[in-house]
Amino acid sequence: MPITGLDIYKLLPKTNCKKCGFATCLAFAMALAAKKTALEKCPDVTEDAKRSLEEASEPPIKTIAFQDGDRTINLGGETVLFRHEKTFWNPCGLGVYISDEMDEEQIGKIISDFGKLTFERIGQIVRSEFIYIENKLTDTSKFVQILKRILSTSAFIIARSTNIGTLSQILKEMNKKVILSGARSSNYRDFLKLAQEMNCPLAITATSLDDISKLTAEISGQNFKNIIIELQPEDILKTVNTLTQIRRLSLKKNIRSLGYPVLVSTISQDIYSEVAEASHYIEKYASIVVTKTSEVAAHMALVSLRQNIYTDPQKPVAVEPKLYKFGNVTENSPVLITTNFSLTYYSVAPEIENSKVASYLLVVDTEGMSVLTAWAADKFTSEKVNDAMKKENLSEIVKHKKIIIPGYVSIMSGKLNDVTGWDVLVGPREASGIPKFLKSL
Ligand code: SF4
Repeated sequence: MPITGLDIYKLLPKTNCKKCGFATCLAFAMALAAKKTALEKCPDVTEDAKRSLEEASEPPIKTIAFQDGDRTINLGGETVLFRHEKTFWNPCGLGVYISDEMDEEQIGKIISDFGKLTFERIGQIVRSEFIYIENKLTDTSKFVQILKRILSTSAFIIARSTNIGTLSQILKEMNKKVILSGARSSNYRDFLKLAQEMNCPLAITATSLDDISKLTAEISGQNFKNIIIELQPEDILKTVNTLTQIRRLSLKKNIRSLGYPVLVSTISQDIYSEVAEASHYIEKYASIVVTKTSEVAAHMALVSLRQNIYTDPQKPVAVEPKLYKFGNVTENSPVLITTNFSLTYYSVAPEIENSKVASYLLVVDTEGMSVLTAWAADKFTSEKVNDAMKKENLSEIVKHKKIIIPGYVSIMSGKLNDVTGWDVLVGPREASGIPKFLKSL
């Protein structure tokens, strides 16, 4: 629950001295709750009150920023149960699993597959980010060899081993950070020491929510909050249930000891079930999902699902508004006009490519709205198109004075002709009609 103005007011000196620039302490408290001023503006607030306010104003689920070298991934930090209430903030990490019990061929394949788990989708580069390595053998030599190998890839690493001495030596030798996995109430002190020394997140495991809560409280009581809750792989329904309980308890009941990102691994045995299982965890409410499969097709599906969920529902996905070129364009190439809604662009662009007619596509900034929506909302107007044409110096780029607008906004053609002075051709309504249209010019 977010801290209210009254909660803040209770902790202020209540002298109404005005040194903060507000007429009363209550006015200052209200402004602070609305994030319109800063606590430092009150010179008389006590250290105790400061500490309480800082703690109370922390998000209910802590954001863990895992930094390795110049790369950072943020985990957790969520503030709502459902995306439509506001948005989800930090996309859940996706990873592949390796154990030192696997044979060389299997390990080599997973590491090689991992290098292919980067995709371009609706203009964004998306990828699976983690490799989870587990030390199962008593002899750690193979674990060390694999860990060193994957530490030199671009993956963020989760390392599970109870051999803290070995882990410590490698991390220091390679100056790398990992998420340390395997800490329990019986052994967490050694893990915590290394996590504090190396500034690594610590993934803790326990058998029940109560035990998880006790353990995180114990660790955070030692001034260490870089914690991730790792659920033990078990029945899928139970895992979804536990993930939901953790999210609800931390957001709705403000139970801080459960307010940490959550890591889960899949248990399904075949790739299709595993994708379905991982999809459940992405939807509700994992912060990192690790799969046994490293197949490109499986991760492409998961990354796409995640990308769809972790977009802000109030901000349409948009492409950069500018003049795009397709093929070897010349001063005689046709110029099509559209809006910068991502889905519109990615429907139109492949059809222009399919036509094999070298063309320009002028994408107008309509705040990410599609053609008809933007037109209805006055975001796709003749004036806006004219401004975009001028900004891109279109009259210097092509020698003809013709533009093609989407068939759905044929109604714009008269005014657009008046405003721009260019001939306006009405293109097809659907993107699929573009190749035929362009070839017929
Ligand atoms: Fe109240 Fe502090 Fe502002 Fe004075 S400076 S009015 S004590 S909030």
